[in-house]
Amino acid sequence: MKTFTLKSLIVSLGLAFLAGAATCAIWRAGLIDSLQAAFVVNVTRGDAPLQSPQPWLGLLLIVAISTSAGFFVSRAGARRSFLILGMGFLATAAASLITSRYLKIDILFAPMALGAIGAVFLVQLNRLWLIDTQLTDHVNDTSARTDTGEASLAQSRLTSGLKLLQTILPLEEAVVLELDDLSALVPCARLRTNPSGALEPGRNTVWRRLIQLCDQAVETSEITLAPAGQIDSLESVALPLRHEGRTVGALLLRLRESFDQSDRRLLAAVGGQVARNLQREEARKRKLDGKLPAFVSARTSSHRLHAFDVISGVLTENRFGAQVLSEAADGYAIAYLDGTLGFVNPAMLGAARLNEGEAQQIDLFGLLDRFRSGVFDEPSIAVRRVLQSGEPYERELKFPDRNQTLELRIALATDRNGNGSNGHGSNGNGAGGSPLCFAIRIRDVTLMKEFEQLKSDMISLMSHELRTPLTSINGFAELLVLDDKIPEESREFLQIITNESQRMSRMIDTFLSVTQLQRGDKKEVTKIALRLDEVVREVISTVQPLAKKKRIRLIEQPNSHIPPVAADKSLITQVLTRLLENAIKYSQERTSVTVSTVLEADAVRVVVEDRGYGVPAESIDRIWEKFYRVARDGQEKDEESTGLGLAFVKEVIEQHGGSVAVESEVGRGSKFSFALPRL
Ligand code: ADP
Repeated sequence: MKTFTLKSLIVSLGLAFLAGAATCAIWRAGLIDSLQAAFVVNVTRGDAPLQSPQPWLGLLLIVAISTSAGFFVSRAGARRSFLILGMGFLATAAASLITSRYLKIDILFAPMALGAIGAVFLVQLNRLWLIDTQLTDHVNDTSARTDTGEASLAQSRLTSGLKLLQTILPLEEAVVLELDDLSALVPCARLRTNPSGALEPGRNTVWRRLIQLCDQAVETSEITLAPAGQIDSLESVALPLRHEGRTVGALLLRLRESFDQSDRRLLAAVGGQVARNLQREEARKRKLDGKLPAFVSARTSSHRLHAFDVISGVLTENRFGAQVLSEAADGYAIAYLDGTLGFVNPAMLGAARLNEGEAQQIDLFGLLDRFRSGVFDEPSIAVRRVLQSGEPYERELKFPDRNQTLELRIALATDRNGNGSNGHGSNGNGAGGSPLCFAIRIRDVTLMKEFEQLKSDMISLMSHELRTPLTSINGFAELLVLDDKIPEESREFLQIITNESQRMSRMIDTFLSVTQLQRGDKKEVTKIALRLDEVVREVISTVQPLAKKKRIRLIEQPNSHIPPVAADKSLITQVLTRLLENAIKYSQERTSVTVSTVLEADAVRVVVEDRGYGVPAESIDRIWEKFYRVARDGQEKDEESTGLGLAFVKEVIEQHGGSVAVESEVGRGSKFSFALPRL
């Protein structure tokens, strides 16, 4: 805080000059003659009288001394000036005695000293005034900034606090009372469970006795009890509302049953929260109108006190955030921008294998050092990257010795409101507000990795171990069907074996293609310039036999002006085949399925429209999910269905940067389509 400016120096000198001038006036009026006489050696009778300086010289001297004293104090401060001015004072007093005794000259010590004292006093008062005004402004600013709640919120917080109490206590009525300017308790919020039997404040003796009970609680700072029968039929409990040693009111609880002593601690804690809310409300109600410094104005003082209460309440509540993080299963640490650790939660201590004492000894780098591994061997590089780019740093760290995989994330927390506490601009990072601190997170992903491994093992098991025997079953069954020696009846069974084993291997294929695509195994995706109308034509001819079986007419709506798209031909062919097979599968016999190719602004869309069963509205958002199938009345038993077809379609199209869409109405038909960006 800068207190010395040119303006303040000029004001100080002006005040000092004023003090000097006033002293001159007093001196010339002869008001301090007796004081002056005390610092000269009295002239014995017959001697020549003491010589005083000329009045103009005296004036000059007094004003000069006062102004210099004022200047000195304003530059060096009162405490430092005290010693030097004191010594000057003593030296001048001695000089005055000596010169009056031997030289018979009065050096005007008393007026000079008085002028200097007056100057020091005024200058110091001015300095205090300035600092005090700054302090008041600062406290008010901070309290306004920290307390962002709405005015209506304060009241609702009070009532919600009471509701919370209702969950633990057999509450009939609860009243929050605040201390007014005359230290009397007045009600400011209340909650009643039974509206008819509510208290009427100020009316009856019961109310007065209850207020006395609250007064007693406030005075003793203890929970005070009046058992049922003492005041009226209910038990009354008065709780002093205290925050950080200041009592701001009382909470009166009226209970149907007797108060359980074990609730005392909880009650005191809830009381603390209600007290903070009360302080907040109080601070908001009081508007500061004057600008007098706190040491002369009780109003400013009390306003400042309220503002400070708000800040202290917010500080307390801010600590809760850290407490909540302590409960988290993931490790969290906060490091300030000087590298000191502000907070480390127990999970982080566990992951870093540190105890609390050790954690206090180390800084950000010390903590990160605990996670050094093959891919994370230079923590300072990671920190620098985060600082420079503002982007979080994320790595998966493997620790084979402890059989653990940890996910490390170092991020720069930024001030979303954009008003950084240090007031400096942002550090060139793109994240918006100015950086506040580092947020370090450690997540144990060992189990997840194990599951992932298990899943991929399962997939490879399916693709090899299941498919191989299935191929033999299918192959041999097909061979046996051809064998004439086998009786007709058995051959029918063999045909079933062939069909079912083929069905199963198709299912496995679909499943594998979906999982493969989801794993991001894109090595099989080879994009070429593809004409979708040609793909449509080819697919229609391959599914034609299937359609014929159900006497479904496949209609192609050709469009000759279709630009090519970049896509994998085999995958897009599979996609369209699945959509057409579905259209045939989910339609009655003797209907039609239309396939059209449409040119859109920057994409080519292929639409497959059927007149089939349709998809119910409640299922429409889910049909793209893996294994999701719609159950339908009268569904054919052998309707081959895995719920994987559409999941595969969506996955392929999205990998190509395209999108899928569906419109459907039960009983009228469906319109499935996909769009791929044009070349
Ligand atoms: P599957 O066809 O193997 O069950 P899909 O993922 O292809 O799996 O389809 C999911 C569900 O969406 C199906 O069970 C079906 O009920 C519904 N569905 C798909 N296509 C159509 C369509 N053209 N008409 C009506 N319902 C459809």
